Amino acid sequence: MDPVDKAMNKPDSSQPRTRKKTIMATHKDVSIIIVDDMQFSRVVVQAALKKAGYSNIRVAESAEVALTMLDEQPADVVLADWVMPGMDGLELTEKIRQRDEEKGFYTAVILFTAQEGIEPLVEAFNRGIDDYISKPPNPHELAARVNAAARIASLQNDLLETSHQLEDTIKQLEEMALTDPLTGVANRRLTTKQLEMHLLDASARRGGVCFVMLDIDHFKQINDTYGHDVGDEVLVSFTRRLRRTVRPTDLVARMGGEEFGVIMHYTRAENYKISSLTRVLTSINSRPFKTSAGDIPITASIGVYFYDGTGDMPSVLKMIKAADEKLYEAKNNGRNQIAS
Ligand code: GH3
Ligand code: MG
Ligand code: MG
Repeated sequence: MDPVDKAMNKPDSSQPRTRKKTIMATHKDVSIIIVDDMQFSRVVVQAALKKAGYSNIRVAESAEVALTMLDEQPADVVLADWVMPGMDGLELTEKIRQRDEEKGFYTAVILFTAQEGIEPLVEAFNRGIDDYISKPPNPHELAARVNAAARIASLQNDLLETSHQLEDTIKQLEEMALTDPLTGVANRRLTTKQLEMHLLDASARRGGVCFVMLDIDHFKQINDTYGHDVGDEVLVSFTRRLRRTVRPTDLVARMGGEEFGVIMHYTRAENYKISSLTRVLTSINSRPFKTSAGDIPITASIGVYFYDGTGDMPSVLKMIKAADEKLYEAKNNGRNQIAS
């Protein structure tokens, strides 16, 4: 057994037992990489840290080797010599910061320096080091600074972990959401679910379901001319007008961007008339939309697919795709019209 380790395991009468235990446990968890091209320096630093209770220590003879080690297993603290042949300590620090950013992790970096003067040190802090230790290191100072650096790494990683969890939660909530935040109407998810129910119902009772896809014509121009905020205003007003034009029981949805969907259910399939859709189109372009940038005239194109409850029931995806293809037809025919 390593004499330093052996010495470490001896009970220390100067410290209360429980307190020592917690410190030891924390020290054991801290993962350290020592990077120095001089073998003698590596041995001295490693021995001092072992004596202070750190056991999870790796040593690298160059910055390049240290980076490979970090790729294999991250470290809480990297202690590196500033001056080394090949990649020096500062370049290593920058590489570590870059990788940390990609991985969402924080590695505390301490540089050993024989350099005197404030300016290079200020630059080193600017380039991402957490601390420095003058060479040759005093073992007690070394242990204290590694301890502080480990605390920084642990705090930073807890923070990163919390923000990752928050991101995950937000993503989950977004996935669970059924309405479009801008317009307040159903989103694509809810529409798909509703359409499925309507199709099953129509198929069982010989009713009819109509799925309507609407796309605002030349909407990009509105954004380009008046800005995205005004574009958003138009989307909100467009939704309102659409809701007022269709029956209250019809489901209006924002399928994405400036594309809308409407589910229209007919208890009796023969009640479906294309004229109700012509009414939607005329209502949209009947008068311009009021926005903070003034009145903006708008037209939209419409694609329709109708299932009359007989024959094979189409799948939801097939129905949406069919309406979408009709929409393209309406666009290609010159816009501001219906294809069914
Ligand atoms: P087309 O007549 O062929 O439909 O042309 P278009 O310009 O309407 O269609 P295109 O698909 O080229 O552009 C759609 C635009 O909708 C592009 C995008 O920036 C904009 N858009 C998508 N979502 C939003 C949004 O939430 N708010 C705003 N303001 N614009 C959006
Ligand atoms: Mg469009
Ligand atoms: Mg579009």
